Amino acid sequence: MRQKVKYFRESINLVWRSAPGWATANIIISVLRSFLPLILIWLLKGLIDGITTAASATPGSPVVNVLWLILAVVIAWFLDEAGSDLGNFVRKKQSMKLEAYMYGLLHAKAIKLDLINFERAEYFDSLARASREAPWRPNSILNNMVSMFRGLISLLLMAGLLTTLHWTLALLLLVVNIPGIWLRLYYADVLYNFQRKQTPESRKAAYFNWLLTGDRPSREIRLFGLGNYFISLFNKSFLKTKEEEIRIVRKRTQIEIISDLFKAAAVLITLLFIARQTINGSLTLGQMAMFLLAFRQGMVYIKELFSSLAGLYEDSLFIGDTFEFLNLKERVQALQPVAEPVGFSKSISVNDLSFTYPGNPTKTIDNITFEINKGEIIALVGPNGAGKSTLVRLLCRLYDPDSGSVKFDGTDIRNMDPEKYRKFFSVVFQDFMLYNLNAGENIRLGNIDEEKADTKIRSAAEATGIHELIDDLPDGYSTAIGTLFEESRELSWGEWQKIALARALFREAPLLVLDEPSSALDADTEYDIFSRFREIVKGRTSVLISHRFTNVSLADRIIVLNKGKIAETGTHKDLMQKKGIYFTMYSKQSSRFEK
Ligand code: ATP
Repeated sequence: MRQKVKYFRESINLVWRSAPGWATANIIISVLRSFLPLILIWLLKGLIDGITTAASATPGSPVVNVLWLILAVVIAWFLDEAGSDLGNFVRKKQSMKLEAYMYGLLHAKAIKLDLINFERAEYFDSLARASREAPWRPNSILNNMVSMFRGLISLLLMAGLLTTLHWTLALLLLVVNIPGIWLRLYYADVLYNFQRKQTPESRKAAYFNWLLTGDRPSREIRLFGLGNYFISLFNKSFLKTKEEEIRIVRKRTQIEIISDLFKAAAVLITLLFIARQTINGSLTLGQMAMFLLAFRQGMVYIKELFSSLAGLYEDSLFIGDTFEFLNLKERVQALQPVAEPVGFSKSISVNDLSFTYPGNPTKTIDNITFEINKGEIIALVGPNGAGKSTLVRLLCRLYDPDSGSVKFDGTDIRNMDPEKYRKFFSVVFQDFMLYNLNAGENIRLGNIDEEKADTKIRSAAEATGIHELIDDLPDGYSTAIGTLFEESRELSWGEWQKIALARALFREAPLLVLDEPSSALDADTEYDIFSRFREIVKGRTSVLISHRFTNVSLADRIIVLNKGKIAETGTHKDLMQKKGIYFTMYSKQSSRFEK
């Protein structure tokens, strides 16, 4: 309960911070509108009595009072309608501001979160729930609170009015609605638990939907004829969640209908009572209409009050998911004493480094020690799954190790701010990104702080052999590339890889890491790049991961990884003489060409 109250407070804070002016306007309009229905009912009573009197009076008597009352009723009605429209606009505007604010929080969190979170399914569940709820839940809390407050004022006014006729009518109004509210609260819990349990299944459905409608999967889906198979998988996941939800909602609706019977009984009793009083002459026609409307409006307000209460309860359950995500802790941060990385002057040393992925039974990096000296070109080789890409991520401090350390010029990188430390690295990841932006921008993203960099962008493109192609595009470096937007030009995979390489070179960081940088390059380009490799990297310390041994042999030192351990290390010549794993892998590859 304390947690829920805390989340409420935090939600209201969020709503307030995102749009204080609009939130105030929303509250003021809602409170003002809560008095209007009573005024309207009271005016209607006066009008009906006025008309009855005027109708039974001698012809020609003045009807001025009735006209004034009609005017007043119309004004009250107009104010109510206009207030409702204005309220809708204010709420829309406020929601928009809050949505932008909440997306800001979500995105800020998502980009700061430790990369390791992206390796866990729970993270995606948490992210899916947070992005589903965050943009609108806090506003729902505010609106539910406002409408609860408004409902309460209006209800008290109506109940006060009914009490003037008989106090039991006011009590009746309250009592018959209790089963309904209990039901909403109970089912709020049931639905919340159900949806939480179903998050992985819903994500599965969203994934199959992407396979069926996304750009990337579209080719394989057609070629392998997988459409109907994935449709059946989607239906299985989608229907499984929806059918279960419908089953719960159906049960709730059945019980709701039973609770409506209580309300119908209350309406019957009230109608009989008011009719008898009117026939007796204890009530005028105007009073009869007033009490009938008051009872009817009272029912509406009590429903509104209870639904806002139940809504608040529901909000308190769901908003927890958003805060759960926003409160995820970043562990990869600068530990005390914090060291400021000023430049790279000597070496990076890896000492007894071990790392295990969450949920994996074995260590991916197992007690590794080596050093990379400034200006060296190091090649990392080894079979698939040896741990090469993982080691690179540890070097860039995308993960923190379980034990051991990485030292940058003698300082443990855990004592450095990760963002500042990563500025020393430029990386082409194995699964590099394709940005659906223009070609020049795609290269400039390597160093987004550099704005006027046309010449440098061009020389990075020239170094990787993509300049001519970009230059021939309709708008040169300003041509949008990718398939996502209109008037953009799609590139081949190898061309994208050259762009990714150019992006890394443009960054001009002292350390360059290339994870399989030539996997899609044609032989000419690959030869061109690797025969000029030293010239291209301009003396930068480089780590090259490759399965192509012709490229690997140019390195100053080769580190052979196998099952997370260093199997061998040395120059190409050393390792060939050693006749170990490297020799075997190299010989197998080269024998294919010799044959
Ligand atoms: P390749 O030559 O195929 O690129 P690699 O040497 O770069 O392989 P890594 O990608 O570092 O290998 O993976 C090393 C091991 O870690 C693999 O066995 C892989 O299954 C495991 N692994 C990689 N990513 C994850 C993850 N997110 N969660 C769990 N295990 C992972």
